[in-house]
Amino acid sequence: MESQCAVCHFSYQREPGFFLGSIYFNYGLTSLVTAVLYPALHFGYGLPNGPVMAACVSFALLFPIWFFRYARALWLGFDQWIDPR
Ligand SMILES: [Zn+2]
Repeated sequence: MESQCAVCHFSYQREPGFFLGSIYFNYGLTSLVTAVLYPALHFGYGLPNGPVMAACVSFALLFPIWFFRYARALWLGFDQWIDPR
């Protein structure tokens, strides 16, 4: 990841551990999607528990890896919105 913006030299890494807050976005969205997906597929569409559980567990393991960079971007934008520099 770049340490600062190439155009305006805005520092992305404000302090050590700054991006720990992105975990809230990543975990929160993963939990929300899984918590909606499982009941919708199992109870709403009547799909069997085994495949739905396997799909949801797979999603819960793989989605955060893919969403990692977007969660950081969301965290950076959220921090800039709350505490503009
Ligand atoms: Zn910039």
